[in-house]
Amino acid sequence: MIVRRPHLSNNFMVKGNSIHWTIEFAVPGGGLIMPKILLIEDNEMNMDMLSRRLERKGYCVVTAHDGEEGHLMAHSESPDIILMDISLPVMDGWEVTRLLKANEATRHIPIIALTAHALVTDRAKAFEVGCDDYDTKPVEFGRLSEKIENLLLVRKSS
Ligand code: MN
Repeated sequence: MIVRRPHLSNNFMVKGNSIHWTIEFAVPGGGLIMPKILLIEDNEMNMDMLSRRLERKGYCVVTAHDGEEGHLMAHSESPDIILMDISLPVMDGWEVTRLLKANEATRHIPIIALTAHALVTDRAKAFEVGCDDYDTKPVEFGRLSEKIENLLLVRKSS
């Protein structure tokens, strides 16, 4: 079992005009592992596309297909960050977020809510239930990536 230290090491790589980030966790023994993302999404196509792109960036990705499974996996997998679809079977993303943020064991895990509607009310609700950030679907991968990196780096410096 890998025990994570509470800080990250991060590296910048400049390729052409763009900056590429890699964010890695230092682990006892001197190795580095990539952060683990729990993706909770019931749409097979979105799940597939997003998990592949995240893996290509080097993240370790674990997936859940409904709210209840996602809730259990947030406990069993100890992810570094959660991408939470809101419209989910069994238990919706609002409810899962409320439960995780009310629990001492999971409240530190950053959660990004993903909703299909660009509604102002959804955005307000995301922060009200305790989400750390919010984005709309269809996902614009570059923008979502930045939000993920920002939250991982906030954790590093806290
Ligand atoms: Mn959904």
